[in-house]
Amino acid sequence: MTLINNSIQKAVALLNQDQIIGIPTETVYGLAGNIYSIPAIESIFKMKQRPFFNPLIVHIKSVEDLPEIVSVIPEKAFMLAAAFWPGPLTLVLKKQASIPDLVTGGKDTVAVRVPNHSLTLALLEQLDYPLAAPSANPFGCISPTAAEHVANYFKNLLPMVLDGGVCQRGIESTIIGFDNDEPVLYRMGSLAIEDIELIVGPVKMRTHDDNTPMAPGMLSRHYAPLTTTHMSANVTELLKTFVNQKIGVLIFQKGIDNHPNIVAQEILSPTGNLAEAASQLYAALHRLDECKLDVIIAERFPDVGLGKTINDRLERATKK
Ligand code: AMP
Ligand code: MG
Repeated sequence: MTLINNSIQKAVALLNQDQIIGIPTETVYGLAGNIYSIPAIESIFKMKQRPFFNPLIVHIKSVEDLPEIVSVIPEKAFMLAAAFWPGPLTLVLKKQASIPDLVTGGKDTVAVRVPNHSLTLALLEQLDYPLAAPSANPFGCISPTAAEHVANYFKNLLPMVLDGGVCQRGIESTIIGFDNDEPVLYRMGSLAIEDIELIVGPVKMRTHDDNTPMAPGMLSRHYAPLTTTHMSANVTELLKTFVNQKIGVLIFQKGIDNHPNIVAQEILSPTGNLAEAASQLYAALHRLDECKLDVIIAERFPDVGLGKTINDRLERATKK
């Protein structure tokens, strides 16, 4: 049985024995292990069924620990860390030689952030090493936003999930890399790109002409429910093309009344708040996936702020 509780002491004991555990963050739950323990890092890849070339994110307790992890800090990276840590921003920077290749997928860069969750920050305080933690879902599945999601995914393979409640942000961190010290967007996430640009000016989109394997969050089908999912700016129109099917809809603000084929409806933010909608997205997809539907129809969100991130995740959820 997977232990689900909030005992930092128990979490420390397991991690010190090279075991891995589920940890809460403000974005999604992570599958965490000591970055310097090769057995722990190998277990993370094995449990997630994640290819070894896909690097993990290193979680540190404060910006003061950054020089232990990275060898160079461009000025704009420092400005972003100062503005948003602890918070849902991951920086990809040149790694220190001490960071195992297994953590970085053999790259000479490492992804690092300070998570904004009191329980996990208290846990990191008790450890004398940082934690490598990708999202705590099997490769390609919807990320977990509650301790129960993690326990359901890994059953008794995982000794413990540190229970920190429901994730406040509910979508993965935004990942920023650097090209000649200038910021580049690697993955959209729960920090809006507009907020980042207020601090460092224009951020380039990453291009894929550099022959590096794409990050898993960038694979076209990812964050996907098991149920076939479609997306449309006009859900009512798309609904007409499905006859005699059990349909679940995922809507931004206003529900659809009296439709005979809709058996489940998730409204992400009745007040039209994008941050609230983002925080509800994965939990809603998890619930819809449990309804034994023929199809899920999701509404396209306004293409601004976190709406862009939500659309990015929904597009990946609809890919075959
Ligand atoms: P996850 O926590 O499951 O969302 O996975 C971590 C994300 O960080 C993945 O999308 C990784 O590919 C990305 N990542 C980690 N390290 C690097 C790196 N050195 N360069 C580019 N992306 C990275
Ligand atoms: Mg992930």
